[in-house]
Amino acid sequence: MENKSVFEMILSGDIESDIIYEDNQIFAIHDINPVAKVHILIIPKKKIATINDLTKEDESLIGSMFLCAKDLAKKFDIDQSGYRLLFNTNADAMQTVFHIHLHLIGGEKLKNI
Ligand code: AMP
Repeated sequence: MENKSVFEMILSGDIESDIIYEDNQIFAIHDINPVAKVHILIIPKKKIATINDLTKEDESLIGSMFLCAKDLAKKFDIDQSGYRLLFNTNADAMQTVFHIHLHLIGGEKLKNI
């Protein structure tokens, strides 16, 4: 059997984490190693290893992840000050967890990329 991702283990309760948002398709948690004052991960319950593995059937799921990010940016009061949304994909982007997740980063002035 394929190993569970850390996010699947959080979802099943095998690893403790505060789930700050959940619906039938996605959930969100604070990143354990934040790179800014606000660093949230928006994660699909369906395990998709990388953005390269997306299919047409995932189209609305990805849309829901961005809408969730927008709502959380407002909830954490960074919608007007600004924030960054990103997916790391594979080695050069330093992806470490092979279960896609959208990083929502803000709460302070971010370095230019
Ligand atoms: P990436 O490098 O894009 O694959 O991002 C993986 C992210 O997951 C990193 O920012 C980690 O800090 C975060 N992470 C790993 N384990 C946990 C955990 N148990 N709870 C919350 N965030 C985690």
